[in-house]
Amino acid sequence: MRQKIVAGNWKMNKNLEEAKQLIKGIKKGIKNTESDARVVIAPSFVNLNSAIKRSKKSKIEVAAQNMHQAKEGAFTGEVSASMLTNLGVNIVILGHSERREYFNEANDLLAKKVDAALKNNLEVVFCFGEQLEDRKSENHFKVVETQLKEGLFHLKKESFSKIILAYEPVWAIGTGETASPEQAQEMHAFIRGIMEKQYGTEVANAISILYGGSVKPANAKEIFSKPDVDGGLIGGAALKTEDFVAIINAI
Ligand code: PEP
Repeated sequence: MRQKIVAGNWKMNKNLEEAKQLIKGIKKGIKNTESDARVVIAPSFVNLNSAIKRSKKSKIEVAAQNMHQAKEGAFTGEVSASMLTNLGVNIVILGHSERREYFNEANDLLAKKVDAALKNNLEVVFCFGEQLEDRKSENHFKVVETQLKEGLFHLKKESFSKIILAYEPVWAIGTGETASPEQAQEMHAFIRGIMEKQYGTEVANAISILYGGSVKPANAKEIFSKPDVDGGLIGGAALKTEDFVAIINAI
């Protein structure tokens, strides 16, 4: 079922104590919220365990920012899907542009990660989006379509109940530059259209498509008001209690 979701990607920020404080603040901030959106936070691996414990008895769900595609083995520094589920993590972010850019994660690798996540019953927030040059050369629709095809279109229709899409134009991530609500809607409608062509109306209507890229309390409401925008993946503004709570309340 299509759901409203606000997810905070903490990236490589917050030590244990800072993470505790942030969760405490969010819990308090959303206690009486009228928003029916799912609230997700993605702390670093080392803080997942504590985050899960501290999020119990609240509507906060805890996601991982990444995982390895292998079941187990000699992959120093990596974390497997079953390690995540064993902790109580139910969601993993895959394909974030920083993983794609700094860690060379390409669509074929991401397809394997998606498979491993689904096999372990993890929900996947699958990120994708064009670079500035792609948009300038009007190639952005093609780039997005290719990312979806190569990363996800090997999946069966049924798998999409565990997939959340996150369109994140790379030029808007951490730059303070947001896609306009119209640009976001245009791309989200395009994405839903591709999903419909590939998997049919039911899947296309049921999938949640989040927007990510410099979402702040000041612009969240307008972006979230667009019909094909089902919520946001939030970076910088997810690190401040008041901002994150304000964004949740904007949906
Ligand atoms: C992100 O990293 O997914 C993101 C959207 O970051 P920011 O909100 O800081 O642009």
